[in-house]
Amino acid sequence: KPVTTDMKTLTEEIEKFAEDKKIEIDTLKIQEEYRKDFLGNVSHELKTPLFTVQGYILTLLDGAINDKKVREKYLARANKGVERLIYIVRDLDLITKLEVGGLKLEKEDFDIIELIQNVFDLLEMKAADKEITLTFDMEYPEPIFVKADREKIQQVISNLLVNSIKYGHPKGTTEVSVENLIKNKVIVRVTDNGEGIPKKHIPRLFERFYRVDQSGSRKEGGSGLGLSIVKHIIEAHDEKIYVESEEDVGSEFSFTLEKTPNNSK
Ligand code: ADP
Repeated sequence: KPVTTDMKTLTEEIEKFAEDKKIEIDTLKIQEEYRKDFLGNVSHELKTPLFTVQGYILTLLDGAINDKKVREKYLARANKGVERLIYIVRDLDLITKLEVGGLKLEKEDFDIIELIQNVFDLLEMKAADKEITLTFDMEYPEPIFVKADREKIQQVISNLLVNSIKYGHPKGTTEVSVENLIKNKVIVRVTDNGEGIPKKHIPRLFERFYRVDQSGSRKEGGSGLGLSIVKHIIEAHDEKIYVESEEDVGSEFSFTLEKTPNNSK
């Protein structure tokens, strides 16, 4: 082969090598940014409840400990703060596993109606505190079998229902429905008549740590991780998640699942 061609091939190879390296470096830079960003968010999220708990402890040490009534009140509040920390750490643990890609799905066939009923039972007290009613949209809910990771879908439904209670108006209603879609799919909808979400926030809703009210002063505690966990789980199933919401009217979160053929176990 003539030398010129070899030189040309060589140059092309070097250019390709440089291009590959550049992509590699760019990817590393993005990962590094992501890591810094993540750590920044984590310490910020942990700071608020930690300072709150410390505040109660300092007040107790300052003398409040001698008054039984005050002591009990402050200890209960400190405990709430610790509870919040536990929730945040648990969510962080889960999101790290999900984002690092270590999520292994254990699919099985199960009745989605029964699963939703279980979550209703688990959240009964929480809903009752705000006089919120959790209901099915169907008069006689019949079993509907789906093929998915049961535990993870339970987490999805739980996160969506907890949100509908947290951001729902007192005495409101959250309705769940499961409908057939085309091609062996069902769609699960969780609809509330709560405070709703302003349009401009919707595109960023599923980002981790994203909250509509970023002030941190809101009374509803949360890590801002719930919806990003939901999205990860649904996407790991190769399914889709949707949201529709209107301020002061309410929100509807829905996701698809694969139906078990013949719809039985
Ligand atoms: P968290 O509830 O811990 O703040 P999420 O990721 O679960 O985090 O939700 C992100 C944000 O989306 C919430 O802070 C809230 O502002 C908004 N949001 C989620 N679900 C609803 C809902 N059903 N109604 C109104 N706002 C909601």
